[in-house]
Amino acid sequence: MTTVLGCIADDFTGATDLAGLLARSGVNVRLRIGVPTEPPSDTAPFEVIALKSRTSPVDEAVAQTRAALAWLQAAGAQRFFWKYCSTFDSTADGNIGPVAEALMADLNTTQTIYCPAFPENGRSIFMGNLFVGEQPLAESPMRDHPLTPMRDSNLMRLLEPQVTAPVGLANRLTVASGVSALQDHLKTLASDGVAHVVVDAVANEDLYTIAKACRDMPLMTGGSAVAMPLPDLYVKDGTLSADAKGPTTPDLAKTAVILSGSCSAMTRKQVATYLTNAPGYRLDPLVLASDGPEGALAWLAKQDLQAAPLFYATAEPDAVRAAQEQLGVGQAGEVVEAALAKIALAARDQGARRFVVAGGETSGAVTQALGTDRLDISAEIAPGVPWTFCNSGGHDIALTLKSGNFGAPDFFVTALKKLESL
Ligand code: ADP
Repeated sequence: MTTVLGCIADDFTGATDLAGLLARSGVNVRLRIGVPTEPPSDTAPFEVIALKSRTSPVDEAVAQTRAALAWLQAAGAQRFFWKYCSTFDSTADGNIGPVAEALMADLNTTQTIYCPAFPENGRSIFMGNLFVGEQPLAESPMRDHPLTPMRDSNLMRLLEPQVTAPVGLANRLTVASGVSALQDHLKTLASDGVAHVVVDAVANEDLYTIAKACRDMPLMTGGSAVAMPLPDLYVKDGTLSADAKGPTTPDLAKTAVILSGSCSAMTRKQVATYLTNAPGYRLDPLVLASDGPEGALAWLAKQDLQAAPLFYATAEPDAVRAAQEQLGVGQAGEVVEAALAKIALAARDQGARRFVVAGGETSGAVTQALGTDRLDISAEIAPGVPWTFCNSGGHDIALTLKSGNFGAPDFFVTALKKLESL
């Protein structure tokens, strides 16, 4: 089917989040990990390409994103969405602004919007200032992010050094006045040469107004939430046929494995909750560095996969720090990711067909090991975390990829139950 909306996300779990929100409407959404090497065939009406460009050098991010755009254009898309983090993770050099300008140039368009708001997850924009919960961005923990410390909350000021053309604002008062007021304001800004328009949104209804007003722009940019209304709008205006339904659930054996390489606070709770009632194997980075994953693989071989065993490197901050001091941050992460990747593959070969993975980086390592680069998005387990169906080594499998802080404490059980109900 011809692609109606081509989406490009600057990281992997962001792409999953966007794909999950688009799929809420029941349409067919497909996620590609990286720009496909083959030309488009058998495409879905909503295609999401996951890049890993959030903190790449600007030139690389621009080149990757342009390649993704070219692929999506070849798939027939005429409208595009550039997805970045709802906390606008970027530096004075980029990558949000330079990528947007490159996409605008390729699409021959002179204006786009910036709306990272995600009210359901506590991200709102008022008078151009981004809030995380009740805190301005620059006073939130994002202030101390290791790669993209956000030291200003004003999106216009953050964007200006990243772009060459003028930046403007459509504030909440305009958005609250409705679709045509917003469209008129965007036109006025365009006639003043304003190419980059930050748009306020504090509630879901604002996102609907913005999506309605901007749905025919060649390029929209933002967090995942502002794209969420688009499928329904496209069905209503006939751009998308109403029978473009999501994937059917394959008939899968009830054999499952849970793999957790995330040490985020919520994942720690999820692991502890799951272990009260299920078998688990703790991966110790120091043991992995000296002996490799053989112990874990031997334990796996003895497990009944119907019981969905959990493999976890998830640990408290002190233990993580101790491992990092001994091995270095990079190697500690790498041995864990490599072990979980091997375990995933061994589990598949032992018959596992349902995979629950916790951790953004961990997800990247596991999907690579399973050789999956094309995921069909199914129902959401928790906001921003859908089940996906894909193929691994000739087998249909179900895979869900959860980044650190997503999901409730009983996420692992909820995920497996949800799959039963599909
Ligand atoms: P999240 O989504 O919670 O940030 P990620 O998988 O993206 O999770 O990142 C967690 C990183 O921490 C991974 O690189 C993982 O290999 C590493 N890691 C996991 N457990 C440990 C541990 N016990 N000690 C040190 N590093 C660890």
